[in-house]
Amino acid sequence: MRLDSYALQKRKVKIQANKELLEQRAWIKDSIVLALGSVPEQLELLLLFSADGERIRAEVKVSCAYQTKCDRCLSELIHQFEFERTMFYMPDLQTGSVRSLKELDQIDYEVEVIEDELDIGWYPSTGLEVEAVISEIFALEKPLQMHCHDDGLTRVEEGECFFVSAEMPAKANNTLAHLFNLE
Ligand SMILES: [Zn+2]
Repeated sequence: MRLDSYALQKRKVKIQANKELLEQRAWIKDSIVLALGSVPEQLELLLLFSADGERIRAEVKVSCAYQTKCDRCLSELIHQFEFERTMFYMPDLQTGSVRSLKELDQIDYEVEVIEDELDIGWYPSTGLEVEAVISEIFALEKPLQMHCHDDGLTRVEEGECFFVSAEMPAKANNTLAHLFNLE
């Protein structure tokens, strides 16, 4: 699904999903799985697109829990997060070839960056791809490294975090396995 600021001036677009609705809306599910690596076990997503001049405003409210793995001991973890955020998308002039220079002159591209509005992205002349926005929302919340006892993470099974030893066939450690035998 693609949106542009012209269409949004006529009407806002509201996208809503929860765990049950995901099964009927595969494109939303796919966008989330692309970012998180698994289908959320709990989800409330509200996404409201509106035009703000040439900009597209995306207001997001999300609450999500999904299964992932500890990067250290490979235990199953549940990562839970929720937030509200407003993101802005500007037309990308580099790819905006459909517009004449004269048209561009009439558009005021100066962006006033206010503290709350630092989440600014760009969209091509073909429009803002909603799937990409959804993936971005979830990808930004997924930490690069996840360990058992970090904030927002809960172990599925009880236990303490430990380093996976070289004897265990942990695929991430295969190339480093010889290092573990040094002592
Ligand atoms: Zn762990």
